[in-house]
Amino acid sequence: MPRFRAILDTMPAYKAGKAVVSADGRSYKLSSNESPYDPLPSVVEAIAKAATEVHRYPDPAATELTDAIAERYGVPAEHVALGAGSVTVAQQLFETVSEPGAEVVYAWRSFEAYPLLADLAGATSVRVPLAEETHHLEAMAEAITPETRMVFVCNPNNPTGTVVRAAELEAFLNRVPENVLVVLDEAYREYVRDADVTDGLTVYRDRPNVAVLRTFSKAYGLAGLRVGYLIANEPVASAVRKTMVPFAVNHLAQAAAVASLAAEDELLERVEAVVKERTRVRETLIAQGWTVPATEANFVWLRLGGRTMDFAAACAAEGVAVRPFADEGARISIGSPEANDTFLAAAAAFRNA
Ligand code: PMP
Repeated sequence: MPRFRAILDTMPAYKAGKAVVSADGRSYKLSSNESPYDPLPSVVEAIAKAATEVHRYPDPAATELTDAIAERYGVPAEHVALGAGSVTVAQQLFETVSEPGAEVVYAWRSFEAYPLLADLAGATSVRVPLAEETHHLEAMAEAITPETRMVFVCNPNNPTGTVVRAAELEAFLNRVPENVLVVLDEAYREYVRDADVTDGLTVYRDRPNVAVLRTFSKAYGLAGLRVGYLIANEPVASAVRKTMVPFAVNHLAQAAAVASLAAEDELLERVEAVVKERTRVRETLIAQGWTVPATEANFVWLRLGGRTMDFAAACAAEGVAVRPFADEGARISIGSPEANDTFLAAAAAFRNA
């Protein structure tokens, strides 16, 4: 038997959202915060064209995509670092800053991959409980020690959908020592409509220790292809680029992401429709008697405590897959109107049962 790292014995496995099917064959996957829309024809076309070239390695520097991202956001290409999904970029960030004994601070509950990546990197997780479902930035600042190397601020937060606002974030950033990297995980940025929520790209330039994490998986609908990126000042971006496994972002993914940026107007119209559905879903849930935190992401959060798994099972019986966190609550992605209606009917029936 080969010897494995001891940490593997205690690490939880990442639980990805799975589809479920009702007895009468209905299936609505609202468990992974994906786009409910099929890929755009222009994107499928770009993938098909790129497919004729897959006997060659991809461009290791993903030059065309890097330049397209840089142009889209008005940043120098040197500020962009790509990875196979933003979760891989997050892993690269851990590779960039971690050493045994290094501490990484994040809110809890937040994105499930943070503890996993910390364990893998040999870093120590410092979890700061949410306050009223929202990051408690003051407590997070207080949790920073001389061993802290990195802090994640997930904005909007997965799974609660809550946000930290500009003044609060600014005060926090002013308190974080310059040798601690602050990662603004903005995987759901395109769904934010609250004007008082900082867009990380407007603040990182003046802050050498801030990095912004974005993804093509959600609003841009490319979850299956795995493309994410970081935008930060040159020293951070180039350090992260060094940790990339060669050719990590494959040729089809690069082509699809370039095509998605070219079709951005259409994709952002879809985001707008999801945002409208989000309002409808939340308001309907509130009318049913649920407490639903205000959400700026493409999902809603229900704190269900001990009823969480029963709720998930009741939804599954109707073909609706939600994302339960046992004894805490469930996260439900905003899907198509039909999927949302089915979910809302299941939620109403559960409440009235
Ligand atoms: N950050 C957050 C907050 C997320 O919720 C997710 C996806 N669940 C990711 C990053 C990673 O997304 P991807 O790797 O698909 O880019």
